[in-house]
Amino acid sequence: MKLTADVGIIAAGPAGLCAAVSASEAGASVVVFEKANNVGGTANMGMGPFGVESRIQKAAFSNLTKEDVFRKFMDYVHWHTDARLVHEYFWKSGETIDWLEDMGVKFAGAVKYFPDSEATWHVVQPEDGSIPGPRAASTMNRILYRRAQELGARFLLETPATRIIKEDGKVCGILGKNAQGEEVELRCKAVIVATGGFGCNPEMIREYTGLDFGKNVFNFAVPGIVGDGIRMVWEIGGAKGRMSIEATGGVSPIGDSDPEAIELRGVFSQANLTVNKQGFRICDESIMQNSSVAANIIDEQTGKRVYNIVDDSIIKRFRRNGMPFSSNVFGSGNIDNFDERFTKLTELYPDCYYAADSLEELADKIGMNRENFVETVEEYNDACDDNYDELFGKNRKYLLPYRGKRFYAAVGCIGGYGTLGGIKVNWKQEVVDTEFNPIPGLWGAGSDINEIYDGTYMFYFPGNTMGFAVNTGRIAGERAADYALSLED
Ligand SMILES: Cc1cc2nc3c(=O)[nH]c(=O)nc-3n(C[C@H](O)[C@H](O)[C@H](O)COP(=O)(O)OP(=O)(O)OC[C@H]3O[C@@H](n4cnc5c(N)ncnc54)[C@H](O)[C@@H]3O)c2cc1C
Repeated sequence: MKLTADVGIIAAGPAGLCAAVSASEAGASVVVFEKANNVGGTANMGMGPFGVESRIQKAAFSNLTKEDVFRKFMDYVHWHTDARLVHEYFWKSGETIDWLEDMGVKFAGAVKYFPDSEATWHVVQPEDGSIPGPRAASTMNRILYRRAQELGARFLLETPATRIIKEDGKVCGILGKNAQGEEVELRCKAVIVATGGFGCNPEMIREYTGLDFGKNVFNFAVPGIVGDGIRMVWEIGGAKGRMSIEATGGVSPIGDSDPEAIELRGVFSQANLTVNKQGFRICDESIMQNSSVAANIIDEQTGKRVYNIVDDSIIKRFRRNGMPFSSNVFGSGNIDNFDERFTKLTELYPDCYYAADSLEELADKIGMNRENFVETVEEYNDACDDNYDELFGKNRKYLLPYRGKRFYAAVGCIGGYGTLGGIKVNWKQEVVDTEFNPIPGLWGAGSDINEIYDGTYMFYFPGNTMGFAVNTGRIAGERAADYALSLED
């Protein structure tokens, strides 16, 4: 099959979809190759993108400005990133939320992810009117898909791109293979790559991040996201970008899809006593609400594991008073029959959940240093009695003593929402070669080019990776269309 277009787009995740809409809006003809049999990619599992100074935030009297966000973000990443690329993203982001709204996407609001974060997470209101939760953003993807098609973009589903065509130093097409096994050749003036990283490729994860998939990192491995775009770009001389896991630490990516494990996760997302294999405390546990910081804390521990502890007296308090941290991501907060339900989980996932009738027995089951652990609990109970955490200064409202009869532990480890980076771009999102010269006709967008966090995902401004994907997708579409339409046929 042979096709022509102004702009060819590799992949229809949120970055590719936004690129398809914006390039079409600019008047370019567009063909999109998508490997899966549906669109939206990883973002179908998520809830919404980042934005600052959106209409929604202004209507809520938010006083957060682009300038504030930019300065805080750049300080957070030690300016170890391309400041102009970050500027382009943040300055576009509020208006992109308005653009999505004008297309028909409804947002339930701009909210925080955890108490110390900012209300930048624009959570999508699902089309069916249900309360927003995981998968809410699939509605946004469906609306983008519809809009791109209305504007004339053509989508080739189940047609992975296999190669970028470059002739006389310029990018001029894409090769792919459709579901019937036929080769598809698109000749075009500009190409945008947005294949979402390599989160489902254990070899690449090991080689480029040093982590071991399924052993010490537990990615949400979306099938098909195996680094194709990165490989295709490197093959034609594109430079390597900095690569990392979009790490999230918490309890517990093992047994992740088990609905009961998700339901009870609210208990272990609290600022409970958390210890390492040596039985020592490692931080003010309330800090672990920021799950990318939690990933770093866990990364420092033996076996990259920590143990979040509760007992029956604490469960009783949670049932009576509610849990201090609530989240619409994990569970409804129902902890009735906790012992029975948790004990079942210990049978299903013996390396992840532990229950015992004494602290000593719990330590032995985990394989933890029993003397240190018992001493840690004694010291922690003293801190609770004194209402003062001398070690880490944890807020006294989280200081609950361990004086029950039955003890529970859940493992915390490093998970990944996916991966970040791989394709090097300049601030205009032009893919560059190893000398930082742009490769004519080639743009990147989304997670494939996202190396803006200096290693630790910036959760204080939640919605940041989907935000980066929709904004860099939209910008790449505009720039690629502009370039393609300026060339003579
Ligand atoms: C459970 C979960 C929840 C999340 N929630 C949020 C959230 O609420 N907010 C937020 O900011 N971020 C969230 N994220 C992260 C967010 O989903 C990603 O940052 C975002 O989807 C990246 O967009 P993308 O377009 O770059 O890539 P993806 O969404 O990963 O899409 C990549 C696309 O590339 C396609 N593809 C791969 N190879 C080829 C090929 N050879 N040819 C053609 N197509 C190909 C894939 O099929 C896929 O459709 C979440 C992630 C997970 C796992």
